[in-house]
Amino acid sequence: MENCVFCRIIRGELPSEQVYADANVIAFHDIHPKAPVHVLVVPKEHAAKFSDYPGDESGERKLGSLFAAVNRVARQLGLDGYRIVVNVGEKGGQEVFHVHVHIMGGW
Ligand code: 5GP
Ligand code: ZN
Repeated sequence: MENCVFCRIIRGELPSEQVYADANVIAFHDIHPKAPVHVLVVPKEHAAKFSDYPGDESGERKLGSLFAAVNRVARQLGLDGYRIVVNVGEKGGQEVFHVHVHIMGGW
């Protein structure tokens, strides 16, 4: 997606404070942190919203790799306890329309 902010970060066109990457996912610090540690875990494949993932095996694979990465990133960050949040759609408070999971902790 040409003008999607997170696709541009994934392509390296915009800078980010990256903490993790694998074949499917990258993670970087949120530019406006709402917690002492606030990291976004972002699938490399563009999808606008969590609710766009299909309910079939392909959706299950995508969600599996995303949430397995969330678990690894939180562990790598050494977080003892944390919150994970996915804002879905405008009415769910979503501002960037590329799927992402917030990890917030470090309190
Ligand atoms: P949403 O409300 O869509 O779930 O959250 C989007 C998050 O992305 C916000 O917390 C916001 O601070 C963060 N964000 C927006 N643009 C950028 C950016 O260019 N770089 C980084 N690192 N974070 C961003
Ligand atoms: Zn995107």
